[in-house]
Amino acid sequence: MNEINIIPIGSGSTGNSIYIEILDHRFLIDMGIGFRKIRDALALHDRNINDIEAIFLTHGHSDHTKAAKAIANNTSCKVYADQSSMYAIRDINAERVILESSTTYEILPGLKVRMFPVPHDYVRTCGFVFEYQGKKLGYVTDCGKMNEIIIDEIAGSDVIVIESNHDIEMLKNGPYPKDLQRRILSKYGHLSNDDCAETIATLYDKGSRNFILAHISLNNNTVQLAYDTTANRMQGKDITLYACKEESVDLLSF
Ligand SMILES: [Zn+2]
Ligand SMILES: [Zn+2]
Repeated sequence: MNEINIIPIGSGSTGNSIYIEILDHRFLIDMGIGFRKIRDALALHDRNINDIEAIFLTHGHSDHTKAAKAIANNTSCKVYADQSSMYAIRDINAERVILESSTTYEILPGLKVRMFPVPHDYVRTCGFVFEYQGKKLGYVTDCGKMNEIIIDEIAGSDVIVIESNHDIEMLKNGPYPKDLQRRILSKYGHLSNDDCAETIATLYDKGSRNFILAHISLNNNTVQLAYDTTANRMQGKDITLYACKEESVDLLSF
């Protein structure tokens, strides 16, 4: 049996929801993809949406929350998030549990969860680390600038989901107005392919080998370019690399 299974159901500009299994625990990160797409992606792999035990929310931007109502109406999961992110889903019909950053919780039996702050232009944006029976998974998207605190939190993870949002040249020459370009490039924006590749090189040196590139921009990047940027940086190194499409039913096993 594979110990960590991931279905990147939605990742990128239009909507983010990623399904994660660590051994017998099953949860969802973010609520930006419709209930039916999640249900159908899980069913393809003989998983039942009713077996999802919890939902974790990184922040309150709509590409992470827009399906919250539909998901909440069709599941009985509790939603775990920072207080500011809860505000974005205050109308949904689900039990909500506010978490504090940099505190370790045991939310599901034996599963340790820590949230940590990530620089981004929502009030408070968070990444996560999950640890269960010796397995560790790190999750960080919507990150304007990588920093040592984040690296320390996710270092040593068996699998790391990390943002590879844009190619800097594509963004600068692309269709977005200048002020939006500046926002994305700022330290409260999104992580570029180059910064992602550098971060992965650092995390490799700290022992991680499996990386999933997430939140790849539709307009300022391509899945291939994101993949190639990290693959080139890590040439000759023994890593497993996967770049997420906008939507996918792929089951990634580690
Ligand atoms: Zn965001
Ligand atoms: Zn986002």
